[in-house]
Amino acid sequence: MKNRVSLKWKIGRTLLLFGVLVIALLFLFQLILLEPMYEHSKIKAVKAISESIADKIEDDELTSEYLSQAQMQSDTCIRVFQSDSYVMSEGDFRGCPMLKPDELNEMIANAAADEDGEYLSKTNTDLMPAGGEGFRNIFFTKLVEDDDDAIKAIVIVSAGIAAVNAATNALSNQLLYIGAIMVVLTLLLTLMLNRQIAVPLARINESAKHLPEGSYEIDPKTNGYREAQELNETLQQAAADIQKADKAKRDLIANVSHDLRTPLTMISGYGEMMIDLPEEKTDENIQVIIDESKRLNALVNDLLDLSRMQEKKITLQKEVFSLSDMISSEMRKYDVYRMQDGFTIEEEIEPGLTAEGDSSRLKQVFNNFMTNAIHYSGERKHIIVRVRKEQDGIRTEVQDFGEGIDEKDIANIWDRYYKVDKEHVRVSSGSGIGLSIAREILELHRARYGVNSVKGQGSTFWFILPLHKA
Ligand code: ADP
Repeated sequence: MKNRVSLKWKIGRTLLLFGVLVIALLFLFQLILLEPMYEHSKIKAVKAISESIADKIEDDELTSEYLSQAQMQSDTCIRVFQSDSYVMSEGDFRGCPMLKPDELNEMIANAAADEDGEYLSKTNTDLMPAGGEGFRNIFFTKLVEDDDDAIKAIVIVSAGIAAVNAATNALSNQLLYIGAIMVVLTLLLTLMLNRQIAVPLARINESAKHLPEGSYEIDPKTNGYREAQELNETLQQAAADIQKADKAKRDLIANVSHDLRTPLTMISGYGEMMIDLPEEKTDENIQVIIDESKRLNALVNDLLDLSRMQEKKITLQKEVFSLSDMISSEMRKYDVYRMQDGFTIEEEIEPGLTAEGDSSRLKQVFNNFMTNAIHYSGERKHIIVRVRKEQDGIRTEVQDFGEGIDEKDIANIWDRYYKVDKEHVRVSSGSGIGLSIAREILELHRARYGVNSVKGQGSTFWFILPLHKA
């Protein structure tokens, strides 16, 4: 399922959720848990004090100064009853919660019933402090026994638990303010993050949407973070590639239609002429029709080949064969250029070099290099073909001394439909796909290949096949 919530809203929602969570936590701790936590800490305090007083009594070290100090420091009220000497009574400390005799008796009785001689009780007082709330007292009663298990002293430590309602009221007001501030902050943060994260993405997205319409202009700046900038650069690269492919496709259609139309015109023209003028039905004219049909056939085959190769539908028919013999025999095809067109074609072919591969596909590569060399060799009409053993394999190269290739074009000539000369003037040669077919074949062979060329001085196209060791 597609997630269609915009990033802007996602950021806002997440931040708001976070704010609500923080406020809920504050509320929980401040308002709901405050009282129980407060009471718990008071109980811990009274228990600790009665523990230390009991220790003093056991060691017979209890003094009234110690008691007064303990009372003051811990904000508690301490009563100690001892059988022989009375240390402190309720009147001794102002503000001590009152205890009725029967309440006192009940506490002592409960402590006596306890295994450890301890008893914790809570009472609500009728005293009304300023807030108008009654507050509670906790009493911790501890019996101190002597060595004969007789009660030596009774310690009662009490503390008031002030009503926290007034505090919680103040806190809940505070929480309201905090909540309001959080909402405003969330909005501001959302706006800020939106500008920094969502806006650059939205802009890149907008540019991407226009690509299919053929608008390849992409603003190079995103004003965003690194990832957005990188995404934008990737998109720019993709746009440039699509633009190039688009242009190449249009060029191809133009070139191919041109290349198809010329032989077709020749074929139909010659055919019609032979019908109209029976004396023109000569062998030469019929040969023209045959040659043009062959050229058409070759062109269509090339196109089919390339598309099959690019879809990886072609498998190599590999065999071990003599590369030297194959190239030497292919060279005979070009003798006609020597004889008729004044070409100087030198052969430097080391004999007996064996390679493994699809010989008919490799022939195709070599012939493409040769026809290009002938086509682009210019006035010099000088070509050298070399096949020689090198450290890492057999190198086959075709060198011409013609027009050469501009450095900026070298990387592109192996691409589909790429033509250096923008004017499509040739009919006899291919449609700019010869080298891309050669590339596919060489890559299927995992051969190394390339071209060395200097503009105006000529080019050397080469490939290196691994040497086959018998
Ligand atoms: P084409 O059918 O146009 O020759 P190729 O794929 O064989 O197609 O070559 C692609 C382009 O590479 C050519 O259009 C040409 O510009 C350049 N090229 C190929 N071989 C040579 C060469 N020997 N000298 C100069 N340019 C060459």
